[in-house]
Parts: sequence; C-alpha cells; structure tokens
Amino acid sequence: MISDRQINDKAYTHNIDPELTYIYRYGYKDAIAEMREAEHKPLQLRISDWEEKTFPDGNSFSLMSHLAKEIIELNLAVNGTGNIAEELADCLHLLFGIASKNGIDLLKATEEKFAINQKRQWGTPDENGVVEHIR
Ligand SMILES: [Mg+2]
Repeated sequence: MISDRQINDKAYTHNIDPELTYIYRYGYKDAIAEMREAEHKPLQLRISDWEEKTFPDGNSFSLMSHLAKEIIELNLAVNGTGNIAEELADCLHLLFGIASKNGIDLLKATEEKFAINQKRQWGTPDENGVVEHIR
C-alpha cells in the first residue's frame, strides 16, 4: 500500500493539485461524497464541526480568549506586520465556533443586524474615527 507521504511526494513531483490526492487515498466514491457534502454544508457548520472534533474541550470562554489573541494579531497585520487575510480568517473561524456553541447561525444574524444598522442614524466620528449609532 502506498503511504500518504509517497502520495504527497508524487503529487508534488507531478504538479498535481493536492486536493486530488484525496481520490488516491480514499477512493473516487468517498472523494465525490466529501465534495458534495462540502458543497452543501454551510461553512460555519464545516468549521465548527471540525473545531468540535479537533478541540473537544473547547467552549465559548476558550474561543473568546483565543479570539482576543487573534484580534491582536489582526491589529498587527493591519498595521503592517502580518497577513491580514489569514488573521481575518482566524477571527471568523472563532466567531463561527462561538456562534455554533450558542446555537446561532452567524451569517443569518449578520444579515439581520445589517438590516437594523441600515435603518439607524449615525453620529460623528470620535478621535479614532469610530462612528456609533445615535441612541
Ligand atoms: Mg492568527
């Protein structure tokens, strides 16, 4: 039987998309089933299911603590020391995790809050440029 390492080496040597190596490992039927599931399963669920399996002891508090660290990394990235896209994604992954642990569909909640924000009146920027809605 060919090992994962050998498959990865062959994929690299022959410039094959690493995702295609899944087919060699698990067979065509499983690969297709996995792709179909990924296509239809919302991103929040795919991420939070993975988080549940990978970090079974995680909870809202640990995810919030991690998010606080990632916000600092995002701040550094925005200010020139890091990859902004990666740090945004780290934050979103954790937000998805917190949402799932609290039974919230984050994209649906975001749509609903967006509709509320669009109807609000907004104040003037503070010294940092932050604008809050008028209460
Ligand atoms: Mg990060």
